[in-house]
Amino acid sequence: MNAIVDPKKLIKGATGDWEVVIGLEIHAQVTSNAKLFSGAATAFGGAPNEHVSLVDAAMPGMLPVINAECVAQAIRTGLGLKAQINLKSTFDRKNYFYPDLPQGYQISQYKQPIVGEGVVIVDIGDGESIEVGIERLHLEQDAGKSLHDQHPTMSFVDLNRSGVALMEIVSKPDMRSSEEAKAYVTKLRTILRYLGTCDGDMEKGNLRADVNVSVRHPGEPFGTRCEIKNVNSIRFIGQAIDYEARRQIGILEDGGTIDQETRLYDPNKGETRSMRAKEEAHDYRYFPDPDLLPLEFTADYVEELKAELPELPDEKRARFIADFGLTPYDAGVLVSERESADFYEAVLAKLADRTRDGKQAANWVINELFGRLNKEGVAIEASPVSADQLAAIVDLIGEGTISGKIGKDLFEIVWTKGGDPKALVESLGLKQVTDLGAIEKMVDDIVAANPDKVAQARAKPQLIGWFVGQVMKLSGGKVNPQAVNDLLKSKLGI
Ligand code: ADP
Ligand code: MG
Repeated sequence: MNAIVDPKKLIKGATGDWEVVIGLEIHAQVTSNAKLFSGAATAFGGAPNEHVSLVDAAMPGMLPVINAECVAQAIRTGLGLKAQINLKSTFDRKNYFYPDLPQGYQISQYKQPIVGEGVVIVDIGDGESIEVGIERLHLEQDAGKSLHDQHPTMSFVDLNRSGVALMEIVSKPDMRSSEEAKAYVTKLRTILRYLGTCDGDMEKGNLRADVNVSVRHPGEPFGTRCEIKNVNSIRFIGQAIDYEARRQIGILEDGGTIDQETRLYDPNKGETRSMRAKEEAHDYRYFPDPDLLPLEFTADYVEELKAELPELPDEKRARFIADFGLTPYDAGVLVSERESADFYEAVLAKLADRTRDGKQAANWVINELFGRLNKEGVAIEASPVSADQLAAIVDLIGEGTISGKIGKDLFEIVWTKGGDPKALVESLGLKQVTDLGAIEKMVDDIVAANPDKVAQARAKPQLIGWFVGQVMKLSGGKVNPQAVNDLLKSKLGI
């Protein structure tokens, strides 16, 4: 409660410093072929009402049947959030009228969710991290979509989404800045994608956030919160929080009070506006769904799912640091997307000597490959340089066949023309000159041709770099700069 408040995060107001308090409710669409209570497909982009069963259309007398895969996905997610898994949970009807919800209620979990308290560790830069508590995760159905732009006087409804399984992941009010909130969503999304339980595609609305914001003077109890509904990009989450915090501070400093309400963020105007007064749980007349038995499974079943979980980003990062000596920052970059981590691991798997070159391989993946992919706007899955090819380049450098500089040229050749790096080194004659006699000859030639520079270098030893550069040039980059440096030192007596 009385944790030290980081002054960087405080917002300056007329009446002193303010602290923003944020809690997020994330709706994550469960990755599954069929909906939560029917066999209809969840595929995105079908023709309107193409994926609608009688259950989704809420025909009288239809009975929901729970989809076991959706349950497994929720358990996997709970395990990934280091959360308590409840072996017994229940489904409730949350009643409200909405044109794209034909049942007139949403089946959700209210008093007994499938997953209880957990935690997410969130890196916030400069090697610092915070823990964001998870309050709960529950399963619920998505609603359909009203279409208002198809006909001049009528609205249409598309029920393809109706009944699709969502996980609502509720955080504790543990975030204190828009940056922390954005980092939390990013991390949560990464965990879901590693687990394969939600694709995290925010553009398709497969992950969206209700953002709860309040402000207070540091040390005071929590203020009244407003909930900004359905924000569907990480950038907008940050913008909505910053705007909303300022708005609330303005009201409070003018002597007003905050009404607890539901608001909407308008990204075009960059502001939030009131949507409705906050509804209370009793407004929904929650009651246990009589069509569904309590959801029960065994601890053994949970253990089975646990045993099959993939390695998650935090563990992977720790392993990269411990096994290959990566910096925490580099390891963090590699694990931030599952695809990047997979690529690095594929390179590792091909290396001749992982212990020797694992760190070097990380540098190549991060600096050369990611740098180039970003520049060209290419996704890692479509990388022109494969993990095998990159591993071969790192091998060639590690074993001393080529210099790092030639390695970069080789990378360029493989990127543009493809080919087997080892064969290219042979056919293009890129091998590093290891014949000491040949290197010595080059050094002697350069030294003999530049007596004035020799004199300068004796007075100012850092000028040795100039000589190294000349020898590198003369050899077409094929000598080992360290060997040249050593030779020069002894020749020049410095
Ligand atoms: P409801 O179900 O009515 O939305 P909850 O108690 O489940 O209410 O809280 C919803 C979210 O609001 C949670 O993510 C929680 O962390 C957050 N929250 C609760 N109190 C505050 C507060 N004072 N300021 C900011 N966020 C808050
Ligand atoms: Mg809420």
